Amino acid sequence: MESIKKIHNFSAGPSILSTYAIEQSIADLQNFSGTGLSAIEVSHRGKEFQKVMDDACDLVKTLLNIPDTHDILFLQGGASTQFFQIPMNFLSGKAVYLNTGTWSKKAITEAKAYGEVIECASSAHSNFNYIPTGYDIDSSADYFHCTSNNTIFGTQMQGFPYSSVPLICDMSSDIFSRPVDVSKFDLIYAGAQKNMGPAGVTLVIINKELYNKTAHRHIPTMLKYDTHAEAGSMYNTPPVFAILASMHNLKWLKDLGGVEAIQKINEEKANILYSAIDESPYFIGTAEVNSRSKMNVCFVFKEEHQALEEKFNNLCKEAGISGIKGHRSVGGYRASIYNAMPTESVQVLADIIKGL
Ligand SMILES: *Cc1c(COP(=O)(O)O)cnc(C)c1O
Repeated sequence: MESIKKIHNFSAGPSILSTYAIEQSIADLQNFSGTGLSAIEVSHRGKEFQKVMDDACDLVKTLLNIPDTHDILFLQGGASTQFFQIPMNFLSGKAVYLNTGTWSKKAITEAKAYGEVIECASSAHSNFNYIPTGYDIDSSADYFHCTSNNTIFGTQMQGFPYSSVPLICDMSSDIFSRPVDVSKFDLIYAGAQKNMGPAGVTLVIINKELYNKTAHRHIPTMLKYDTHAEAGSMYNTPPVFAILASMHNLKWLKDLGGVEAIQKINEEKANILYSAIDESPYFIGTAEVNSRSKMNVCFVFKEEHQALEEKFNNLCKEAGISGIKGHRSVGGYRASIYNAMPTESVQVLADIIKGL
């Protein structure tokens, strides 16, 4: 058999998962838990899948140290469904949104259909290359919404503004990458496909007290959070494969030492790449230094060195580097270095940047 060339996968999402998760998932697709059947052809009500669901919840709870005040839900529709499901459920009067990029803007657009949106701060004027700080959060708001990591612009919140209003955060692209104090958040959501598992499932961590603050409007049963909480995320057929593969990936993370351990590795990887960019005479990082993301590293050629683009692209291709084309709204390059990205792969890219 022809040997497969090693590919360094810097894709922004769906993105790299641990080899362990891929291998375990393949095994379960062929023979799930000794049933002789594939994991995707058995009832989700059977004891084998119930164990997967229980294990996935336990792993999320342990990894993020989630208190009993919060429910853990596995939903569908992606983070984009949360953009409207959150205001549909909890926006009665007004809500405060921090605008840090494309995903924040989409969340704001959806919320406006349900109530007043106060944009407390925005970095739109500088193409979202930093995270604004020093804004006020109206204490009469129903909630405050922010995006912890801006996948497209390569910026990341380094801390969160704790206020008297419920704190809601889109953590799609940095969940499980660093410890967070979940007790301070009322709702955290994340599409799985950046740092947790395959596309098709959305993790929601919700403070049970929030159910009492549900807006007085008709909400379809499927779009009420407590519907899914009461049914253990099995009100209807859950995305069984996405949950199964996520469970394996979270098991890998736990065995590695959890979020504290991966945070150290993530910092090391980000440091290797940002140092190479900062030391290069040809490249420049697009995000402000103190807003830099440890998950998505965005960089461009300096105006006067654009001519090196083809050479750089070819070197990357030869080295097996995949998925570093920047998003069209930033241009240049974006190296996504999620949890499962090995340090060695980051080093390969850094060496090309340094050797150019
Ligand atoms: C990718 C992404 C989304 C969109 O997720 P879907 O699951 O595709 O709807 C939302 N927010 C952030 C921060 C993202 O990175």
